[in-house]
Amino acid sequence: MIVVMSKDSTPEQLAVVESRIENRPGLSPQVFQGIERVVVGVLGSIPPDLGDEMALLPGVMEVVRISKPYKMASREFHPDNSIVMIGDVAVGGPDPVVMAGPCSVEDEEQMVSTAQAVKASGAKVLRGGAFKPRTSPYSFRGMGLDGLKLLNLAKQETGLPIITEVMTPGDVDTVARYSDVLQVGARNMQNYNLLDAVGETRMPVMVKRGLAASYEEWLLAAEYVMAGGNTNVILCERGIRSFESFTRFTMDVAAIPVIKRLSHLPIVGDPSHSTGHWYLVTPVALSAIAAGAHGLLIEVHPNPDLAKCDGPQSLTFENFDLLMNQVRAVNSSLSSVPVAAS
Ligand code: PEP
Ligand code: MN
Repeated sequence: MIVVMSKDSTPEQLAVVESRIENRPGLSPQVFQGIERVVVGVLGSIPPDLGDEMALLPGVMEVVRISKPYKMASREFHPDNSIVMIGDVAVGGPDPVVMAGPCSVEDEEQMVSTAQAVKASGAKVLRGGAFKPRTSPYSFRGMGLDGLKLLNLAKQETGLPIITEVMTPGDVDTVARYSDVLQVGARNMQNYNLLDAVGETRMPVMVKRGLAASYEEWLLAAEYVMAGGNTNVILCERGIRSFESFTRFTMDVAAIPVIKRLSHLPIVGDPSHSTGHWYLVTPVALSAIAAGAHGLLIEVHPNPDLAKCDGPQSLTFENFDLLMNQVRAVNSSLSSVPVAAS
């Protein structure tokens, strides 16, 4: 349930709404100061009489019951698109934000040269894994803290903000110190302790879709982060498991408009992990942009043949530059034509 305050409501009236919610066992209020209005989300199992009690309080404009199991992540809760700021980069607005870099951090030269190249081509955020979830325990599992330090160095050199994965609740503080966006990987989408831990921060969090997660499960993962008070959530469609094994996963392009209908949160597409082949990355990236994605996550490596992780799906600097030109072309041509109301 959400309680929408009227435009001329006072802070005292808001405080009364909050305390009435707090007085009910098991309920807590979450206040959102929108540009147009203040809304109070009621978290917990809603008793049947609460709506009437709230509707009668001074300063309350309306009470909206949310039918979906995810509340704060739902479009009903927040009809306008949410914008998540990564420094001064806005994710969720009209300009797609491209986050690019290697699968994993390997050394200084690799990170700094990639950061410079992707920045020159128009990427706004630098990616690179320091803590890597690997299917086999014998694969390269990342440089850990040393990798975070190299990401930070590349940020100092280029000014690009950093997105990197955090795998355990115990690492959240350390990863948060060296990065601008916390990535929750596909394999951890239902690690509820991790979702709680990143929800305690106020940093942007990108929640990747689990390998076999439904839209509802994915949005409930976002809800975990938001229920902790962190509304800075970005979703990432990175492909799901299907019977087809030629591609690494199957990119669910329809997820992009579906999520935009169900939720106000920004959504980006990951054509690298969803396809597994570098020559499929650009066409699938363009399809995600055409479907309305707010951005892309792209793996780029100075020498994909030598990459310690995900080389076959990594773009060279040259191919990343070509991709960026095509992304801009698709985005600008589509933004100048009318679209059907949905
Ligand atoms: C990644 O982005 O580095 C990654 C491991 O992706 P995913 O969690 O989608 O497999
Ligand atoms: Mn990867």
